[in-house]
Amino acid sequence: MSLITLSGIGKSFRSREGRSWVAVADFNLTIENGEFYCLLGPSGCGKSTVLSLLAGFTQPTTGRLELAGKPITGASRDRGVVFQGDDSLYPWLTAVENIEFGLRLRGIPHKERRERAMEYLELVGLRGQEAKHPTELSGGMKQRVQIARALANEPKILLMDEPFGALDAQTRGGMQAELRRIWDKMKVTVVFITHDIDEAIVLATRIGVMTAGPGGTLKKTFPVDIPGDRTRADPRYVALYDQIHTQVREEVLRAATRRAA
Ligand code: ADP
Ligand code: MG
Repeated sequence: MSLITLSGIGKSFRSREGRSWVAVADFNLTIENGEFYCLLGPSGCGKSTVLSLLAGFTQPTTGRLELAGKPITGASRDRGVVFQGDDSLYPWLTAVENIEFGLRLRGIPHKERRERAMEYLELVGLRGQEAKHPTELSGGMKQRVQIARALANEPKILLMDEPFGALDAQTRGGMQAELRRIWDKMKVTVVFITHDIDEAIVLATRIGVMTAGPGGTLKKTFPVDIPGDRTRADPRYVALYDQIHTQVREEVLRAATRRAA
């Protein structure tokens, strides 16, 4: 049985004027336990919509959405969510207090939750930063705290929506390496949204490209079979980049044509 199944998924929104907008249509995807799945596509194609469905924040209009064979009906601790930007940390709590917040809600005693939060803080490379408040942390550090907070709940699945989009290139590269290491160590399944092809190739075990909206759907899937360091020095990297780029560019152009029409 697959870990995640999306079968014939459609999601429509109703505008304030009462018109229906089809964000996602006939979306079919299965993800196996332990995969690092990256979803690529032009802006507005429905990537975030797919992720909110997986998170259980919204319900599909049509189709079947299952986690280990059971319908997803709402948010749950088995799915950790990290979104773009870093304003979801509580400014009045320190880094370690933010990480242990979920554990506190679950009634885990202070000593145990602090120990566990410190482990995750170290895992994301923030040892020594635990007493700082969000305003005293850089963008990259805040993003690490968010990842640690999601991991501290020991989710089966990590859902990430362009989590490094706002970071400078260097911090971003470091975070990507860190995330690959964590994924490898924790054996967590990751669904990661990005519009950056290089980011997808560096991170993923499989990459899905979506069509332009309305009615965004999965267009093509690419397995990433590049062992060792994934860099442009590897001809397999460049070949895969070109294939994906062709698919993405087609959809970006289609989206632009629709906007102009
Ligand atoms: P992406 O993340 O790929 O940029 P989204 O999933 O955010 O795309 O959005 C897909 C489409 O659905 C867009 O046209 C967007 O305007 C629309 N949409 C998303 N969420 C809502 C909502 N809550 N209400 C109305 N329309 C929405
Ligand atoms: Mg989005």
